[in-house]
Amino acid sequence: MTQETVKCLIIGSGPAGYTAAIYAARAGLAPVLYTGNQPGGQLTITSEVENYPGYAQGIKGPEMMIDFQTQAERFGTQVRFGYATSVDFSVNPRRIIIDESHEVLAHTVIICTGASAKWLGLPSEQRLNSHGVSACAVCDGFFYRGMDVAVVGGGDTAAEEASYLAKLCNKVYLLVRKGEMRASKIMQERVKSLPNLEILWHTETEEILGAHEVEAVRVRNTQTGERRELPIKGFFVAIGHQPNTDIFHNWLDLDTVGYIRTVPGTTRTNVPGVFAAGDAQDSVYRQAVTAAGTGCMAALDAERYLAAHGLH
Ligand code: NDP
Repeated sequence: MTQETVKCLIIGSGPAGYTAAIYAARAGLAPVLYTGNQPGGQLTITSEVENYPGYAQGIKGPEMMIDFQTQAERFGTQVRFGYATSVDFSVNPRRIIIDESHEVLAHTVIICTGASAKWLGLPSEQRLNSHGVSACAVCDGFFYRGMDVAVVGGGDTAAEEASYLAKLCNKVYLLVRKGEMRASKIMQERVKSLPNLEILWHTETEEILGAHEVEAVRVRNTQTGERRELPIKGFFVAIGHQPNTDIFHNWLDLDTVGYIRTVPGTTRTNVPGVFAAGDAQDSVYRQAVTAAGTGCMAALDAERYLAAHGLH
């Protein structure tokens, strides 16, 4: 196994990771960033990004992430393709294994491993991803203005996405697999009060239909067995996210879902010198710009930690 020691290791290459890299590099921390298996993160699977400040005309998600990378590299960040397979936070510097073959000893670690949307697992959902199928109403809802759409899920995310879409779209179907929603009472009241939103209870999605773009969804009522085709243009999956934090379970305080707990108002975790930013520690906002904001915070926290320990 090869080995190296670095001042600042960044794990993950979404907006949080690259923003942390830009700040850490400009502060002279010579950061090394490992991209993970999906360089650029979740934004590389969205189409147009229109709500990131500074891109007045909007930009494609993958292009935006190349801009982030270019900016991070411009100040000397070493961006490497690789996946953190395990960590040992009992030692100092912290020990991180990349692809089970390379050992990084890091005086500070910034975790920006993000989260992954959960999907239903239908082949049509994968095929039509970014062609009408989305897991983010705030990102993609705008493209379905005045049209009919469906949202699947019964939690707070589904309720929030459905309410957001109801303001833009002609009609929203909310597909709930049980006879009740898991969302908070207030969110349930909100969706039930929307005149252009229809909740279909006990409803399972069988297939998303359309050759190149979503044209309809075939649903089945699990109580009556009745099947219906709903003509829609957008299909939003909102059945939860899973933070990508498995390798940290034994070391970091996580909430019940797996999000990393940070000290409020900072990016500090329970392990000194280990910081978390972006969706890996945020189950509420989950936006590129908020991820970037916490990435900046993490780099500043790391820089202060190094200075306080005479390492910078
Ligand atoms: P949740 O896990 O709370 O809810 C997931 C929903 O998706 C459930 O209704 C579940 O149904 C349904 N579901 C899961 N799998 C499937 C499937 N295969 N097919 C159909 N439906 C499925 O996830 P959320 O993302 O909604 O929320 C996560 C956390 O974040 C929660 O704690 C929530 O309160 C919080 N949150 C808070 C917000 C706020 O306060 N503004 C906004 C968004 C999230 P079932 O109930 O049948 O299992």
